Amino acid sequence: MARKRLQGARGMNQLPVLIVGGGIGGMTLALALAKNNIASCVLEQADHLRAEGSGIQFCPNTFKVLDYLGIADRFEKVAFFPDFLCYRDGISGKEFIRLPLGDKIVERFNYPFGSFKRDEMLMAFLSACKEEPLVQFETDAKVIQIEEYANKVVAKTSKGGVFEGSLLVGSDGIWSIVRKYVLGEDKPRISGQIIYRGIVDRNQMPSHLDLDSIVHYVKPSAHLVHYPIGKHNFINISAIFQADRIPDYRECKGNEEELLKWFEGGNDDVLDILSHVDKNRMWCLCDYEPSRNWSKGRVVLLGDSIHATLPYMTSGAGMAVEDAVVLSQMLDKYEDYSTAFKKYEEERYLRTSYVQYFSRAYGEAHHSSGVAREIRNQYLSNWSTDETYNWVSFLYSGIHLTKEAV
Ligand SMILES: Cc1cc2nc3c(=O)[nH]c(=O)nc-3n(C[C@H](O)[C@H](O)[C@H](O)COP(=O)(O)OP(=O)(O)OC[C@H]3O[C@@H](n4cnc5c(N)ncnc54)[C@H](O)[C@@H]3O)c2cc1C
Repeated sequence: MARKRLQGARGMNQLPVLIVGGGIGGMTLALALAKNNIASCVLEQADHLRAEGSGIQFCPNTFKVLDYLGIADRFEKVAFFPDFLCYRDGISGKEFIRLPLGDKIVERFNYPFGSFKRDEMLMAFLSACKEEPLVQFETDAKVIQIEEYANKVVAKTSKGGVFEGSLLVGSDGIWSIVRKYVLGEDKPRISGQIIYRGIVDRNQMPSHLDLDSIVHYVKPSAHLVHYPIGKHNFINISAIFQADRIPDYRECKGNEEELLKWFEGGNDDVLDILSHVDKNRMWCLCDYEPSRNWSKGRVVLLGDSIHATLPYMTSGAGMAVEDAVVLSQMLDKYEDYSTAFKKYEEERYLRTSYVQYFSRAYGEAHHSSGVAREIRNQYLSNWSTDETYNWVSFLYSGIHLTKEAV
């Protein structure tokens, strides 16, 4: 098979940019670099792309990046566009936020709010990468070692592969090996929050539920959300609680008794929806403290590897795709990669830190009890749609994107 053409970036040598991790951030970066005529080689540890059954939501700022890259239509084909984003008290059932999504959010922010089956969303990225001659995609390539030389960087894989690049980008997620290289030994913060998930055919769900919307039910120390994903009538369900123990991050065997304990007192809808969650498997939610120093030498971090966040603002993927276009634009704009890395970090660290901190705060607001719960319910129910749009505007309006550098 003919090898794809790999050309180096302006100001760099003729080697491609190595991208460790072919997830959301890594694939977006490969496409963004290609847009700037920079070749890349994506090294993905999985032998084929898979995403354990779950859903994901893309806010308008994420679609803005996809549109900039010319690939939004691929995602629209596999997205569901929910009608409303709703928050209800999980005990009383009273709704305190009902934010229009659908056409209304497009009118306000120019781009939609969509939800996907994760595997279909990843396939949309992969198909775009496969059609792009400047992107080489290697699967079954788990990077275990990084070596840096005066004029290149080398990644070695567990199967004996050796890849040379002009630069190396770590988009290898929260348990990043590249982060270790850049920042030294550093483990994520275990939040103590535990999530259970489920994907259910919509016909199996009680028909009186608002299944075309994203609906959160929040109660002290726990919450549940259901939302439609993709075009094939699936509903994604997540149940999260704040445990009274610090689980080991490797813990994944479900404990039904513990899960049900945290949802005691939930209303009938909550208990009904909870019955559809897979009780055999749990995940511990972790994040990182915001930090500076995103790069070392020819190596730089992107996405969860540098700013993993709790999921309460549904924005981790949005931050990864924004990182990708900014990094690519900086590499195109500056001859010297260390200046490009610094400018990229400068441009990104406050926005991503905001998401990290506010996601924690949103999580506390979701799980609040006593007077705090009453304040939340009453205060937010008084907000008009415009006030709520204004509140999320900083995030949903997205980054400034022009054809030139940001
Ligand atoms: C429960 C939950 C719900 C979420 N919901 C949303 C949401 O609705 N909206 C949203 O925007 N975000 C959401 N997020 C966050 C989002 O999933 C992440 O922020 C996003 O996936 C980060 O992308 P990434 O490319 O940085 O990392 P990842 O998506 O984790 O990709 C990393 C890739 O690197 C590969 N890899 C790892 N190590 C190596 C190695 N050594 N060598 C080669 N390859 C390697 C992995 O196999 C993987 O493909 C959620 C997160 C959680 C936990």
